[in-house]
Amino acid sequence: MNTMTGTILDGNKIAAQIKAEVAEEVQKLSAAGIRPGLAVILAGHNPASEIYVRNKVKACEQVGVHGETLTPPDSVTTAELLDMVERLNQRHEIDGILVQLPLPAQVDSKKVLLAVAPEKDVDGFHPLNVGNLSTQRPGLVPCTPAGVIEILRRGNIAMEGRHAVVIGRSDIVGKPVAMLLLNHNATVTICHTRTKELASHTRTADILVAAAGRANLISKEMVKPGSAVVDVSTNWVEGHQVGDLGPGVDAVAGWLTPNPGGVGPMTRAMLLKNTYQAEVRRRG
Ligand code: NAD
Repeated sequence: MNTMTGTILDGNKIAAQIKAEVAEEVQKLSAAGIRPGLAVILAGHNPASEIYVRNKVKACEQVGVHGETLTPPDSVTTAELLDMVERLNQRHEIDGILVQLPLPAQVDSKKVLLAVAPEKDVDGFHPLNVGNLSTQRPGLVPCTPAGVIEILRRGNIAMEGRHAVVIGRSDIVGKPVAMLLLNHNATVTICHTRTKELASHTRTADILVAAAGRANLISKEMVKPGSAVVDVSTNWVEGHQVGDLGPGVDAVAGWLTPNPGGVGPMTRAMLLKNTYQAEVRRRG
């Protein structure tokens, strides 16, 4: 029996460090009378979204960032949301705009996301920011992928020259994670639902990022001994949050993120960092 236990990459601890760093920078700005501001649009009633947004705004307050929530009703139209975004684009004291997804079904989500000024796009979803990332230009990087990289960086996991396998190819997680790993000189494989023999790829991964949203997808036999495993997914099984990892992966991996307590807190911390960075870039 393998009794090795992987080192925990503690997302709560690393996120707290990042928040403390942001709080320190925000404190310096306050001497100049500047306070970074984040506006979140939370359309309609979605209990999960309401909790996420509440936590995001609370996190803002903790580091001295101004946070506000706009709550249009379920019946909101695309035109009304576009108008709301445009008004936030115009407000000088708002540095970051976040449109919480999913939007109500009648809304053209892509159109609304495209309306967010790229310099205030703290989610990093605007095509201009996607292009900046893929061409290694400065820009705003999506929070969860940025959190994945930061947890590896601060966990002293080398990326350069190593084989990184990302499971998932979404615009929100998989693709930007893969691009960031590539920008850190990893050799990257992206796997998805049409990938054949998933295990043949994962078994050669020095760094494995699981973002499929499928509980128990990754068995311990699919993991390279001693590798770093980042479990991004949030699946709900019998009322509990779990990731994609099956039992025993922790005994094979060299490093791994707990779930919960791994990537989730990093996502919120990177949102604060993005809001601060958006302020610095736009207002100097
Ligand atoms: P998604 O459903 O858009 O994408 C999932 C991807 O996984 C797809 O590209 C799909 O091809 C791939 N996939 C699914 N099943 C697979 C399988 N059996 N084999 C290989 N590939 C498979 O989801 P998403 O928005 O990219 O999010 C992924 C997960 O990460 C979800 O569980 C989501 O809840 C979670 N998430 C967590 C955070 C966080 O802060 N921790 C943030 C965003 C998303």
